[in-house]
Amino acid sequence: MNSFDVVVVGAGPAGGQMARLMAKSGYKVLLIEQHEDFSKNDFSSAVTLLSTLEQFDLPEQVVGSFWNQFVAVTTNTKQVWDSPENLGVVLDFAKLKEFLANDVKSYGGEVWMGYRYVRHLQDEGKTLVTLKQRSEGKFETICTKVLVDATGFARSVMYEKQSEQPKLLSGTGIEYLIEVDEEAYNQYSKALFFFLGYKWMPKGYSWIFPMDKFRLKVGAGRLKMEHKNIKNPESLQYYIQLLIDKHVMPKEYRIIDIHGSTIKYSQGLKDIYYKDNVIAVGDAVSTVSFLGGEGIRHGMYSAEIAATHIKKYLENQISDFQEYQIEMRKYFLPKWDISAQVGIQQYLIESDKKFDEVFTYLGFLTTEQIIDVLFYYELGQLKKGFSMYLNNKVFGLLNKFRRVFRSLTSYRGQGSKRSETIS
Ligand SMILES: Cc1cc2nc3c(=O)[nH]c(=O)nc-3n(C[C@H](O)[C@H](O)[C@H](O)COP(=O)(O)OP(=O)(O)OC[C@H]3O[C@@H](n4cnc5c(N)ncnc54)[C@H](O)[C@@H]3O)c2cc1C
Repeated sequence: MNSFDVVVVGAGPAGGQMARLMAKSGYKVLLIEQHEDFSKNDFSSAVTLLSTLEQFDLPEQVVGSFWNQFVAVTTNTKQVWDSPENLGVVLDFAKLKEFLANDVKSYGGEVWMGYRYVRHLQDEGKTLVTLKQRSEGKFETICTKVLVDATGFARSVMYEKQSEQPKLLSGTGIEYLIEVDEEAYNQYSKALFFFLGYKWMPKGYSWIFPMDKFRLKVGAGRLKMEHKNIKNPESLQYYIQLLIDKHVMPKEYRIIDIHGSTIKYSQGLKDIYYKDNVIAVGDAVSTVSFLGGEGIRHGMYSAEIAATHIKKYLENQISDFQEYQIEMRKYFLPKWDISAQVGIQQYLIESDKKFDEVFTYLGFLTTEQIIDVLFYYELGQLKKGFSMYLNNKVFGLLNKFRRVFRSLTSYRGQGSKRSETIS
């Protein structure tokens, strides 16, 4: 029987990074993935900050495009923040996962594609894992010292049955990868466009993100929960088509791929982080933010935290993963709690007018501050925007002069922002 130090189930960003780190440290690693190849499950929009490349030592080959502008469109407003420098990237999600898997192999690990985890059991101090090779329907049993659940929202290893899972909030997203004419592409080639409010995507948001030449990701995602005011929104496809027809307005376009998936999040982070020698990382322990659905770098970071604990476990320095759970909750819980509360309030309760208002407040933030809100979850900045908005209302004229003066004397150095009311 094949024996490993670590078996990682699921070759998403969290599982790939987990296997990569352990293989790099010289452990005997197996990474398994139910899909035959990475193009099959290419579901993520994969937007992230530029710093993600350096943080996780990722090469440019996994980048679909670079962005330096951030645009938020609501039913009646449009806000633009930009920077002379690149702020982030849209990753090629399939290439990212492929790169991580190849790195596992280059460090001596094994990657088995097209294998599905079925079950595991403890037998005389050994953990036996049963896998199903999908194309031939054959079963195989392997042995491991540590088993990692990196199966994303499915949480397939940690919970035998779905009914054992904690109560999970869920959201779903669909995205079209389209190829457009050059003129249409150029409007979006360096910008992330987010669309919010009842017109564009009730219960969530829709988006247009650039990929490599002439390709755009156009998508829509929403929570699977009741909205206070809107009972029967249109289908996700309707809102994607709305963006293509009314915003991109290409002379011609071709759909290259349609993909989508689900996010399942435990409010209060009540997931099981470990059980005996089984440990969970990434979306399997709700590392995805429920406010914006950003999860790649957080899943990869959870793998880094887990790797340090798994190494100690394999070196017999610790006998369980309690410290892993403590470290993870300490890092994620405060920001994730507030993000989920704001998400539920914004997407399910607020009126359309409130969306316009909130984004009008946000229009008062600088590019750096908006990045802090959206990517560092510093939601206290929202209050800053609000008080600036009030200030502006009361001292409207005075502030107008001040802003003109500030822009003349280089407003916070780098980025800039623009607001428009859409008539
Ligand atoms: C539509 C959409 C858009 C998104 N956009 C962004 C974005 O722009 N930026 C961002 O940072 N995040 C985004 N996210 C979230 C992000 O993609 C996830 O948080 C991230 O992929 C989680 O990584 P993971 O490795 O934990 O899980 P996953 O990426 O879900 O990987 C889990 C893997 O496990 C495999 N698996 C599952 N069960 C089994 C089994 N039984 N046996 C074998 N293999 C199994 C799956 O096939 C999969 O490959 C988006 C999510 C969605 C749904």
